Parts: sequence; C-alpha cells; structure tokens
Amino acid sequence: MAQTQEVTVPDIGDFENVDVVDVLVKPGDTVTPEQPLITLESEKAALDVPAPAAGTVQDILVKVGDKVSQGTPIVVLATDTEPAEAPKAEDSAETPPSADTPSEPASAPPEPSPAGRPNAAAVRKGAGSSVLVIGGGPGGYTAAFRAADLGMKVTLVEREPTLGGVCLNIGCIPSKALLHAAQVMTDARAMADHGIRFGEPEIDTDALRNWKDGVVGRLTGGLAQLAKQRGVEVIQAEARFAGPHSVTLRNGEREHKLDFEQAIIACGSRPVSLPFLPEDPRIMDSTGALDLPEIPPRLLIIGGGIIGLEMATFYSALGSRVTVVEMAPQLVAGADADLVRILQKSLSRRLEAIYLQTRVNAVEAEPDGLVVRFEGDQAPEEQRYDRLLVAVGRRPNGDRLNLEAAGLTLDAQGLIPVDDRMATSRGDIYAIGDCTPGPMLAHKATHQGKVAAEAAAGEKSAFLARVIPSVAYCDPELAWCGLTETEAKAAHRDIGKGVFPWAASGRALGMGRDDGLTKLIFDSRTGRVLGGGVVGPHAGDLIAELALAVEMGADAEDIALTIHAHPTLSETIAFAAESYSGTITDLMPPKKR
Ligand code: NAD
Repeated sequence: MAQTQEVTVPDIGDFENVDVVDVLVKPGDTVTPEQPLITLESEKAALDVPAPAAGTVQDILVKVGDKVSQGTPIVVLATDTEPAEAPKAEDSAETPPSADTPSEPASAPPEPSPAGRPNAAAVRKGAGSSVLVIGGGPGGYTAAFRAADLGMKVTLVEREPTLGGVCLNIGCIPSKALLHAAQVMTDARAMADHGIRFGEPEIDTDALRNWKDGVVGRLTGGLAQLAKQRGVEVIQAEARFAGPHSVTLRNGEREHKLDFEQAIIACGSRPVSLPFLPEDPRIMDSTGALDLPEIPPRLLIIGGGIIGLEMATFYSALGSRVTVVEMAPQLVAGADADLVRILQKSLSRRLEAIYLQTRVNAVEAEPDGLVVRFEGDQAPEEQRYDRLLVAVGRRPNGDRLNLEAAGLTLDAQGLIPVDDRMATSRGDIYAIGDCTPGPMLAHKATHQGKVAAEAAAGEKSAFLARVIPSVAYCDPELAWCGLTETEAKAAHRDIGKGVFPWAASGRALGMGRDDGLTKLIFDSRTGRVLGGGVVGPHAGDLIAELALAVEMGADAEDIALTIHAHPTLSETIAFAAESYSGTITDLMPPKKR
C-alpha cells in the first residue's frame, strides 16, 4: 500500500544553513532508492540527498537558493514500503562543485567523473572497430595505446623514424637531461660559498650530447616496444586527408592511400620563425640548440618564454654569455609578476643581459658574428653575437593535413575546434594536443589522447580538467596552475592569497635556497583554492599538490590540516594555506585578511 513520506535533510555533519544548489527531481517523477533528489553545497563539499526508498515524487518543498539544515523537509514521496529512516547524505566529494560555478548534479550515472574518466559501467562499443592516429607524440601514442587497450584495431602514422614527437626527441626530455647537467654545475659552484670547492668543470660536449641522446633513445625505443606489444601498427609516413574517410601516406617518393573508420589527429606544432632573419647555421631554433653544436661565447635568445629561459639557464651554466630579449614587459607572460621577479633576479646574476619591451629589428650575418639591431629603451642599438636562438612561440600543424578534404576547418588561430570529448565538428574524427585550443603542453595532450581514444571506443569520457600546470625548468624552477592573481584581478574576482616566502623554510635554507616563494589563491566566498604558483627548486614537482587541491575543491583547512613531512619543501604549500587561514606559527604574525 502506498505511504506518503516526507524526506528531510539528514545529518550532514556540523553544517547549518547549507545552500540548495540543485533540485534534481520534479513532481510525478519516479525514483529509485538512493537516487539523488537535491544537491546541497556547503563550505566543504557538495552533498546529494538521496531518496530513502523507491517511489513517486509528490511535492518539492525547497527551491534552488534556499538554505536548509538537518531535519528540513525537502520532498514528499509516495512509497510502496514503510517509511525508512532517512539515509545519510552521501558526500559526493568525487564531484566537488566547480570553483567557478555552482555544483552540478554529482552522481547521476553514467555521466563521466569530473576528471573525465568513463564510468566503470559504461558499455564498450568500440572493441573490434578501428582508428587511425595521426602523429606519434605524447598525445598520439597515448591515444593509440589506450585505443588498443580498449580492443580497437589501431594504426599510428608518424612522419619521423621514432615515436615520441617533439617532447621525447627534440623537446622536453633532451632539454631536461641537459638542464640536469647544468644544475649539477650550478649547485657545485654554489657550494664554494659554503666551504666545498670543486674547481671549474671540464665540459666534453660530445659526451654530454651522447648521454642526452642515450636518454632519448631509451625512451623512444621503449615506445616502439610498447606499440608492438599492444599490436599497434606503426607506419612511418606523412599523412594528409584525401577524403572524408581516407588519407594519403607519403614517405619519400612512396605514396599510398589508407581508408579509416575513425581518426584521431595529434599532429602537434612547430616553432615560429621570424621572417627577417637571414638563412644562417648560427641561427637556431630549440631543436638546433638542443643538438648542442658548440658552447657559443656569446648567445642571444629571442623570446623570454619557457623555452627561451630554459635554454638561457642551460647555456649560461655551460659558460656562454647569454642575453635574452623579450618584447613584452615581463618574462614568462602567463605567470604572476611576483613569482617571475624572483626567477628574473636569479637569471640576472648569471646572464649578460635581459632586455624587456625590446624587439629585434634586423640581423645581419657577418663572417665573425651576427650583428643584431634592437628597438627598445633597455638595449643598445646594435650588438654582435656568435649565435642566435629563436624561441618566440610555436604554431599548430593543423594547416599541413589538408583538413578540407575531411570536411574540417581551422579557427582563426589555426587550431582545430573540438568539444570536451575531443571530437571535431565531425563526430568520427577527434583532435588533441598542440593543434587544438589550450596550452601547448605534453601533459595536456596525453590526457586528451586518453579521452579521444575512449570516446572513439564508445565510452563516456570527457576532458574536464580544471587546471593544467605549467612549469619552466629554469633555476629556480617556476610552476603555476589554475587561476593566477593577475587573471583574478582582471576579472574582478573576490580572492584572498596565502603567501609563504622560502626564507622561513628550514629545508630551503639547508639547501642554500632561500629565494623561493609559494603562493596560493583562494576564493574569498567559499575558501576554496583556485590556483597558485611556486618558484624555487623542485617547483615543478611541488605544483602537483596544488593541481590536485584545485581539482578536489580543497580549501585552506584541507591543505593546512594535511600533515606535510618535515622538513620538506612541500611544507611551503601547507604554510601558505595556513598563512591564508591565519593559523601559521612558522612566520611573523599573520596579517588580518
Ligand atoms: P612562448 O609563447 O611561451 O614564449 C615566447 C616569447 O617570445 C613570448 O614571451 C613573446 O612575447 C616573445 N616574443 C615573440 N616574438 C618576439 C620578438 N620578435 N622579439 C622578442 N620577443 C618575442 O613560447 P616558447 O617559449 O617558444 O614555447 C612554445 C610553447 O611550448 C609554449 O606553449 C610553451 O608552454 C611550450 N613549452 C613548454 C615547456 C615546459 O612545459 N617546460 C617547455 C618548452 C615549451
């Protein structure tokens, strides 16, 4: 016999007057036991109040924006069974509300989880179907491997003889190997002030290059092996679309056509060049610089972004006199000025010069050097350098694929528009990584590669990352993620910040590195962390905690009450959170917020 039951807000912990942010049912709906009825948002988390039993919704007693506490009636339910005790609200911490927007219904299956991973119950439709992946960089090989793991027949086309793309072959990996060598020299030199002297290093550039190439070789060889183990067919060729479901594959003089069912474009990007530069082997891009042709006595780097500064760090450690010229008013334009200032101060001690708001107007190649003309107040009119490195950004490669043949078009920036499943305007062709909107970063591409493969296999998957961390592997490292202070101010966001200078970190002092800084940005309304940055040794590793905190919707207490091992640099993140909440004891008394 039908019973009428008034469903009330269950025990939700120590919270009162919690906001109703969503009403998930309407009168007349039939519900199953545990089906979410309304979503509440407290300072700590989003909470779904589930149905205590199966039944039909007769009346809704609350609306979005109401405030409720334990015992507040929310829904009248007609059930077939005796009224059951209201179940405890489920903490849907799995789906924390967005730091920026009200929370979404958290647990309605089979939507993807916030990180975009498919629901375990999702049906795999793609097993046995085929997919063509164009490009074997981090995005492409990840997509290919994931698709193969999901039972798809995968063909991976890569122009170069090895897999790994720019990142493994001529980018992230070789540069990090060389930067490690630079760091060893810098650290050894720094110890002279603390009583340990090694003398000047002898640099064997051939051996250093061989070691770096060996690191790359191990990784790319490993990828070939992994492709083989998964049954991924790897074809060395350049692919261009020839029709809606076909590509031509060219390798030298050989060309053939290949039909595909679905495709994932992972064609990457290439360095931007400056049109006024002469053809001269002494003018390099990042690929040329990582080849380590020599240690130039005097090197000019055009572009004060991540690549420019990483190469400045490396070549200055080897002994080159390095100048960086940047046309913007700040180095590393995307990061906050207070963090960049610390990096710039450290670089200024090692570089010959840093010219901001300065352009290179002309370069003349002469037998005894490259004569460079500058335009800007900070630089002299003309200087002579032994080599030039151009690091003025990268351009997406989508323009090289004859996309029109597949019915696709590029946007005004030359990028391939995609939805959050990484699908292009054609649902059966996906695009990921540098050729799509967003930062050009390998870790973005790998995550998108998994999503595209899962979507192609028929899984419910989406790329919904809140933050994509950026790292400049200079000395000190600079890393940031999520909302920056500059962006918050421009958007008139009501934020607060927690800052911890490393001069107060015992670990940093013990490393002789008191110049670091950790900064966290919080939403003043909810207390949730929205982003932050770290400058100092190992900042690139430390930023992972902050990225996780933002993804999980953590607030200052969540971070501060998580016990961080002492003495570590990771404590600086906890201390920055404590500095925001006013509970810090390791620093001068906190300012009133
Ligand atoms: P970038 O866009 O980060 O920086 C280029 C800089 O050059 C900008 O600051 C720009 O203002 C300046 N510039 C442009 N034209 C100039 C000119 N004519 N004169 C003087 N300055 C000029 O580009 P990048 O450093 O070449 O890096 C390319 C991409 O690769 C970026 O998206 C970067 O994030 C990515 N990348 C990341 C890493 C990493 O994660 N560690 C490493 C390398 C590259």
